[in-house]
Amino acid sequence: MRSTRIGLVAAAAVLALTASACGSDDGGDSGSGDGGSESIKIGIKFDQPGLGLKQGNDYTGMDVDIATYVAKELGYEADAIEWVQAPSAQRENLISTDQVKLIFATYSITDERKEQVSFAGPYFIAGQDLLVRADDSSITGPDTLDGKKLCSVTGSTSAQKVQDEVPGVNLQEFGTYSECVAALVSGAIDALTTDDTILAGYAAQPQYEGKLKVVGSTFSEERYGVGLKKGDTELCQQVTDAITKMVEDGAWQAAVDDNLGKAGYTPGAGNPPTPDACS
Ligand code: GLU
Repeated sequence: MRSTRIGLVAAAAVLALTASACGSDDGGDSGSGDGGSESIKIGIKFDQPGLGLKQGNDYTGMDVDIATYVAKELGYEADAIEWVQAPSAQRENLISTDQVKLIFATYSITDERKEQVSFAGPYFIAGQDLLVRADDSSITGPDTLDGKKLCSVTGSTSAQKVQDEVPGVNLQEFGTYSECVAALVSGAIDALTTDDTILAGYAAQPQYEGKLKVVGSTFSEERYGVGLKKGDTELCQQVTDAITKMVEDGAWQAAVDDNLGKAGYTPGAGNPPTPDACS
């Protein structure tokens, strides 16, 4: 996409350096840095507009742009990236079974997930919110969900949190958020809960214009991290350095504006975040 000959030469130089610096714990076939023609498998969402969206052979979104930048810093040009769909409930498994090397998929850093995978980042801070039909004024926050039919996704922090906090809610868990949106529009459910970033992306879709609204009062902090093999501190550090560089050179802001700006989304407090130390 944005690759140039100069970029390729620079990438090859980075690749040579990273290849000599590591390469011992590169398990599986999810990509390695020891050859210019190799690819890297990266997990993203395929159905979240503004974040990770697949349309034909086109992949767009903030997660896609940040992943593309980080991959380049690791020595992989954009055309060496193999995008793999990473639904919420499958992310830990995709990493631990080496089906992907990295995951950029609105993936919140949590202590529970850290038992199975490691994270670089955070690279973005979002918050959990609610999406409802535009003409519904009865749902204004989690405390108004009693008896309502709420949709979220299996394996997400969103489903877990709402279950913990609103025991009276009738929660239906689907495999992807786009299935929840369809159910919301059809009237089969009353609300969808997940990160405000994701909800803003759906509400801004032309086909839902005037039909959906984000409630607009967040009730969690979702720290998006880059999922990687548990204990791969070296890779974590490389990804962290790439994220830091991306924030410093303005490319992070551009990725945010280009992808979330369209939905009228402005990042909340704490953005851009300072990445945690890799351990
Ligand atoms: N960020 C939350 C999570 O990691 C919700 C979004 C998602 O399911 O991707 O679970």
